[in-house]
Amino acid sequence: RAHRVEHFTESVIREMTRLALRHSAVNLAQGFPDFPAPAELKEAATRAIEEDFNQYAVTWGAKPLRDAIAAKYLRHYALELDPETEITVVCGSTEGMIASLLATTNPDDEIVIFEPYYENYGPDADLCSAKRRYVTLHAPDWTFDPDELRAAFNSKTKAIIVNTPNNPTGKVFTRTELELIAELCQEHDALCITDEIYEHILYDGAVHVPVLTLPGMRDRTILVNSMSKTFSVTGWRVGWVLAAPHLTTSIRKVHDFLTVGAATPLQQAGAFALSLPDKYFIDLAVHYAERRDYLMGLLRVAGLAPYRPAGAYYIMSDIKSIGYSDDVLLSRHLVETVGVACVPGGSFFSRQGLGSHLIRFCFCKKYETLEEAGRRLQRAF
Ligand code: GLN
Repeated sequence: RAHRVEHFTESVIREMTRLALRHSAVNLAQGFPDFPAPAELKEAATRAIEEDFNQYAVTWGAKPLRDAIAAKYLRHYALELDPETEITVVCGSTEGMIASLLATTNPDDEIVIFEPYYENYGPDADLCSAKRRYVTLHAPDWTFDPDELRAAFNSKTKAIIVNTPNNPTGKVFTRTELELIAELCQEHDALCITDEIYEHILYDGAVHVPVLTLPGMRDRTILVNSMSKTFSVTGWRVGWVLAAPHLTTSIRKVHDFLTVGAATPLQQAGAFALSLPDKYFIDLAVHYAERRDYLMGLLRVAGLAPYRPAGAYYIMSDIKSIGYSDDVLLSRHLVETVGVACVPGGSFFSRQGLGSHLIRFCFCKKYETLEEAGRRLQRAF
């Protein structure tokens, strides 16, 4: 067994989905929708297959999709991108993140990660033999101490990963916070790799700011995103990486040899999806805001103290309120006996014990699903 795989276990999020299936539990663990994908997208994908877009696309992405990505960023952020040199289509954000890190880090480089963090970033750093440095996000609003962030940067820092809107906390980083991050990246000649997969899932007037648009960051930011969450097609595995040409050249090399390319017909459908009118993106946030409020209510009734997210589609709950202190034990009890799957909070932390008072629920589900989960949770404690 290679040393590089020794330090991480398999994904707890995805293991919880397998456990949910085994125990016929309501799955509020892995973040994927259980309602149908938009009909017009399914039609666009079917049409692309019928029209025989069935062979490899250009390795860094079908031209119509790269053009649609450029048009989307121009429309939403007035950001101009060259589809020929700054956009790479990849197999989901997962590949986008690991390809970006493999393309830019050397062994023993340091990567700054906010904690709690989406669990892939740990193994991603390990696969690059990079060292991780953590900066804590503090509940209830998941702010960080600027001095702690400053202290995490040094001459070995190669990159910081910023996931906003954030999984699992629902934090939306403010412009001021991102400006500090940008300042530190410039001061220490580091890259900022942003995971913006929940970009359009924002509540209560929260605003998403891509670091790529901040002054001085155009040449040192790598933006990773995908169709999964915005278009409710997590199984399509179509994502993209935006970066200045000198970074894109390296990322494309890694991408080419890792996967060759994402599914061609789904890239065609992606071009269609990204061109949907603004109403689609606005309605998405409204749709999730209602579900957030609904699950917040259910969790409160069950006695599970939920933290209100400002974006993304997860809720962290503090389990001390129901007299538990072991996230794994409680999650096991919930999936096996109560019939609701969640993710133990520890999966989002670097060290055992740090997240043991937390569990994460997702609400990208049909009302019936959430209602059933609520019914089961209410009887649980
Ligand atoms: N991002 C989703 C989650 O956190 C699922 C990601 C995955 O399993 N690929 O649940």
